[in-house]
Amino acid sequence: MVYNFYMDILEIIDKKREGKKLSKEEIQFFVENICSKKIKDYQITSLLMAICTRGLDDEEVFNLTFSMAHSGKIIDMSDIGMCVDKHSTGGVSDTTTLVVVPILASLGVKVAKMSGRSLGFTGGTAEKVEVFKGYQTEIDTQKFKQLITKNGASIVSQSEEFAPADKIIYKLRSDSGTVENIGLIASSIMSKKIACGAKILILDCKTGNGALLKSVRETKKLAVLMRKIGEFAGIKVCAVISSMDQPLTKYIGNNFEVYSSLMALRGEKGDLLKLSTFLASKALILSGRCKTMEKARFLVNDVIENGKALEKLKQIVQSQNGDIKYIDSPDDLLKHKNSFDIFSKKDGYIAKI
Ligand code: URA
Repeated sequence: MVYNFYMDILEIIDKKREGKKLSKEEIQFFVENICSKKIKDYQITSLLMAICTRGLDDEEVFNLTFSMAHSGKIIDMSDIGMCVDKHSTGGVSDTTTLVVVPILASLGVKVAKMSGRSLGFTGGTAEKVEVFKGYQTEIDTQKFKQLITKNGASIVSQSEEFAPADKIIYKLRSDSGTVENIGLIASSIMSKKIACGAKILILDCKTGNGALLKSVRETKKLAVLMRKIGEFAGIKVCAVISSMDQPLTKYIGNNFEVYSSLMALRGEKGDLLKLSTFLASKALILSGRCKTMEKARFLVNDVIENGKALEKLKQIVQSQNGDIKYIDSPDDLLKHKNSFDIFSKKDGYIAKI
């Protein structure tokens, strides 16, 4: 049989543009041919735009998620034990990963963290760890597992090996105004989590004007959908809905957000430490390390106060070739050649940012 490739992808785009449901085979065809580069970027973005306007039902999201997860390798973590992963749906000045990961690792919970880069107007953890000059975000599976065994945690970005279809789609979504769709967000996050082999997942689902989804109703839908996908994939999921109507700290931007994380790890009170403590405590419960939130919070406070969480971050960064000078001198992160002050012309209070 002669296979008319262009006919097929155009039919798939037309079908979604008309609001029709895509079959499992069509979604698989789309994902496979993204990776083989037979589908052009403009065709991918056409379909993404059609998905944004017409939506995907749960079955389509499941099929997209598993096709993208299986577009690369799936890591088997069974030899190093139960690993926890944590993911945020994205926001402005949302920098909990750099706080939560070392807290958990210093308490003996293994963390396999595969992070994304910035998406649309939201920041990415990959760029934040790269603030530590030399930090290697792309390492091979063997090294990833070795570091988790040695340090209790590793933070990496998505390489060509894991969910490569998501990597391609992610970049195109960011550049084509096709980010804010529940099905695309759910499949992007969950395909990476399945590929990464974690068995426990804490999802921080952001809601508000600094998040991808603005309403609690929409965010709840996303949380429920990701939990369903996780359960189907054998991952224990805890989804938390948290407000992103204001930045978590006074600082926005990679250097500044790393500064905020370092200050939270030094015990600076505020929304960042509060939310990070909550997320870490939930992970401690889900991993069986604690039975109550009270005990979990106590353990988290302890590793903040005795400096073990901060020391753990140093170990994680150093093991991935990152320069640790900022961890010892966080104030240097605020000295930027392009920084300047803006003074208010009259007295008053800032009610909202
Ligand atoms: N994080 C991801 O990895 N993908 C999204 O679509 C949103 C947040």
